[in-house]
Amino acid sequence: MTIEQVKEEQRIAIVGAGPGGLTLARILQQHGVKTVVYEREPGPHSRQQGGSLDIHHDSGQMALREAGLFEQFEALARYEGEDFRLLDKTGKVYIDEFAESQGQRPEIDRGTLRELLLNSLDPDIIQWGHNLVQAIPMENGRHELHFENGHVDTVHLVVAADGAFSRIRPLLTDSVPAYSGLSMVELYLDNAAIDHPEIAAFNRRGKMFALADHKGIVGQLNGDGRICVYLAFQIEQEWLDTCGIPFDQPEEAKRQLLKHFDDWDESLQNYIRSADGPMIPRRIYMLPVGLKWTHKPGVTLIGDAAHLMSPFAGEGVNLAMLDAMELALSIVQHGDLDKAVEAYEMKMYDYSSKSAEESDANLKLIFSDDAAAKLTDLMNQYYEQQ
Ligand SMILES: Cc1cc2nc3c(=O)[nH]c(=O)nc-3n(C[C@H](O)[C@H](O)[C@H](O)COP(=O)(O)OP(=O)(O)OC[C@H]3O[C@@H](n4cnc5c(N)ncnc54)[C@H](O)[C@@H]3O)c2cc1C
Repeated sequence: MTIEQVKEEQRIAIVGAGPGGLTLARILQQHGVKTVVYEREPGPHSRQQGGSLDIHHDSGQMALREAGLFEQFEALARYEGEDFRLLDKTGKVYIDEFAESQGQRPEIDRGTLRELLLNSLDPDIIQWGHNLVQAIPMENGRHELHFENGHVDTVHLVVAADGAFSRIRPLLTDSVPAYSGLSMVELYLDNAAIDHPEIAAFNRRGKMFALADHKGIVGQLNGDGRICVYLAFQIEQEWLDTCGIPFDQPEEAKRQLLKHFDDWDESLQNYIRSADGPMIPRRIYMLPVGLKWTHKPGVTLIGDAAHLMSPFAGEGVNLAMLDAMELALSIVQHGDLDKAVEAYEMKMYDYSSKSAEESDANLKLIFSDDAAAKLTDLMNQYYEQQ
């Protein structure tokens, strides 16, 4: 089959309008291959999209170039967001980096990246409010997709870009995400420069990591002027439910969260004390490192659906976009959908398993004893290799 036949005769569905699914739809659109993207959220603005992401030159940025969006990305990206500070709980500073003007991992807010991708797609590609409930394998690799709203579609290829708890993954593997040992609480300091000038000056233009006692406080300046704060706890899986902290009552929750950091420096406690508005508790899950499956025609996984990992290598979004690029280019090169998917899967296993190993090692190191000193050594080794 030629790529022209794929364009005319093959129906490709992407489930999930996250960074992976949208990048895939965009690159295929660039090559004249039509797709449909099914997304369960009712519309583009129905959910707060969360914090800032660093987009790497050798993965996420490559995908944006292939998508024809790199110049627009550059105009939106915050290169100064690569500022990085590392401290321990006493406030001792281990690393204090001031970003160069043109580094390799600039930041962009998740919502801004999503908007960039959404605006680049033909509007009829995305079907909002379509929650996939089941994908049923049929003859010849086709799949029948059933949605909560009653819609049914039969497609030649379904790409699962539906994230951590993919409903399509069980067609390919019995592996399920396991709790990583880490729970986080996400808080925000609104309008930081004006309303929280001391914390804004302390945090600088990028990320501040404070690590000790198997816990962490991470502050991350976003493009909209907020500081996103992650409180991280290496703790048993049930803790968020059993700790008794009322996360829906922010003032009381802050008071109780501060108790977990009562011997931390004031400059660090201030991230909690001064937080505004609601907070989001979440457990961090991961798939087995190096997950593979037996190839089946007509279905594949990209992004978190394929290789969910902890966020401590900063690779999740970058890999989702790289997967999208590799799969799209494979489809365009092979013409034959089945060969294209198989070639993509082989390539993806290789690079994603390396990132998953790195992410797993970072997770263990960041929440070990003397984490700030150990992370400093690791980063120094990395810089020496560059
Ligand atoms: C707290 C936290 C911080 C992080 N920080 C970073 C970071 O700094 N850098 C980084 O690279 N990564 C980070 N990550 C990881 C990153 O968010 C993910 O790896 C990335 O979003 C994966 O993209 P995706 O497109 O595969 O999936 P997702 O972004 O999860 O998108 C999946 C989409 O599928 C939709 N969907 C789900 N189920 C269905 C269904 N049944 N039917 C239809 N639609 C469905 C969802 O609504 C969603 O829009 C972080 C993750 C967390 C939890």
